[in-house]
Amino acid sequence: MSAVTPITIGEACGVFGVFAPGKEAARLAYFGLFALQHRGQESAGIAASDGNAITVYKDLGLVAQVFDEGKLASLTGDIAIGHTRYSTTGSSNWANSQPTYRDLGDSSIALSHNGNLTNTGALAEHLGDQGATTDSELMTELIANEVASCGSLPKAIAAAAPEFEGAFTLTVMDRNTLVGIRDPRGFRPLCLGRLENEGWVLASESAALDIIGANFVREIAPGEMVVINDDGVASLFPFEAADPRMCVFEFVYFARPDSRLYGEEIHSARLRMGELLADQAHVAADIVVPVPESGIPGAQGYAARSGVPYVDGLVKNRYVGRTFIDPSQSMRDRGVRMKLNAMPGILGGKRIVLVDDSIVRGSTTKQLVQMIRDAGATEIHLRILSPPYRWPCYYGMDTGDRSTLLAAGMEVHEIAEFLGVDSLAYLELDALLEATGAPADGFCTACLSGDYPTGVPTTGDKYLLERS
Ligand code: SF4
Repeated sequence: MSAVTPITIGEACGVFGVFAPGKEAARLAYFGLFALQHRGQESAGIAASDGNAITVYKDLGLVAQVFDEGKLASLTGDIAIGHTRYSTTGSSNWANSQPTYRDLGDSSIALSHNGNLTNTGALAEHLGDQGATTDSELMTELIANEVASCGSLPKAIAAAAPEFEGAFTLTVMDRNTLVGIRDPRGFRPLCLGRLENEGWVLASESAALDIIGANFVREIAPGEMVVINDDGVASLFPFEAADPRMCVFEFVYFARPDSRLYGEEIHSARLRMGELLADQAHVAADIVVPVPESGIPGAQGYAARSGVPYVDGLVKNRYVGRTFIDPSQSMRDRGVRMKLNAMPGILGGKRIVLVDDSIVRGSTTKQLVQMIRDAGATEIHLRILSPPYRWPCYYGMDTGDRSTLLAAGMEVHEIAEFLGVDSLAYLELDALLEATGAPADGFCTACLSGDYPTGVPTTGDKYLLERS
């Protein structure tokens, strides 16, 4: 039996922050990051403050590989931030892992970033050669410079952040203060939670609150900055107002099904995507088969609406991880053989509706289709829970340039031919937005529509800062 991976796109990162008087903040951050592991598996890190100093530990690998009891015990204090990384700027190496840290004596800071700036080159030029190799380090440098002149972390962030363009959700800390901030369009999510007795939590997704027993309070608004210290939580808006544009792929793929965004449960939204896809592109078939795992709720919705039985015909190796430590294409190609297996006993002799969340490069989907053919399927009708992915993302998803995107240069019937399927249908954009349950004008859809909410770089790539 051959095996393939459904992973065709890079992931956003996960950020976390906790202000928990009297508690072991690093331990809470560890479990929070564990719940955010799906957002990045290249590196993990935690910074913690005991009120006197900030200690940082980070390394390449999964959260459970990076930390053990001894390392957590060394991260003392009741304020912490954490990060799980998938590289969208800079290579996957130790130096680029997060949180970033700047030693400013009593004013030292640490920072975790999810997103991707669109003015990295201009910021680097403005700062001069500081040796930064990621946009996150540039932001840390700018904030550190402002700390020196403003004297307080919140003031420094409020002064520096309007210089950043693009996507940035940050958790930042000094010895006594935790700050969370979303860029004015809120490309990447951030929510606030309350610990049972005392304390506050910031996390990319609400599922990371559940794991540590924190209650969901609210989503941080686009353009909002929250400052958490002994005085409680203060809310500021340091940017000029902009229309909110959360990444629609948070609903399609990134976020956990048990998280809530825009007040909507992701699992329910994915079910609706499948239902609407069945309305839009019904086909006579024997079974509906998901590409695990993000295709599962959509396949369930498709099956329920169409009346075609849902069957698990592909088995995922749950221990491989959702993507790879080395995100290079060569590693992806090798990893393809490790993630999924088809079951001929279930797929053989059947007309199959195969449901997946998206197709970006298409190479792994093609192999998946061949694997299902090899398992004896008589027909394969591919149904995709999002529209054709035709434009590169500059806001935190590593898709490469347009030449790597399958749908950028092909019509749907040509893609079907390339993939070797009997039919192919994509969920229409209006239907996708309807399925989210959130306001349709609250999303970035640039990779699907070409309608970018900000200016985008005309030169440079994720290794921009490593060339000199
Ligand atoms: S371009 Fe696509 S992947 Fe990137 S933020 Fe916008 S919707 Fe999300």
